[in-house]
Amino acid sequence: MKVKVNKEACIGCGACAAICDEVFELNDEGLSEVKLEKKENEFVSVKEELQDEVRDAADSCPTGAIEIEED
Ligand code: SF4
Repeated sequence: MKVKVNKEACIGCGACAAICDEVFELNDEGLSEVKLEKKENEFVSVKEELQDEVRDAADSCPTGAIEIEED
């Protein structure tokens, strides 16, 4: 599974980081980003044990900003 955050859609509510802080964090602008992201807007691989939390975070995002690509 891969994930990315669409920063245009993120409103910085912090739900994703609260659910899975190993993958999501709020940046200096108060917007969510994927911690392992090297390039802006690039999908990042999620290790097996964190995938359920990432799906929960995506379901909980009020703006649908978290995009998931299943393998
Ligand atoms: S849950 Fe969605 S809107 Fe809230 S900080 Fe995360 S990506 Fe942004």
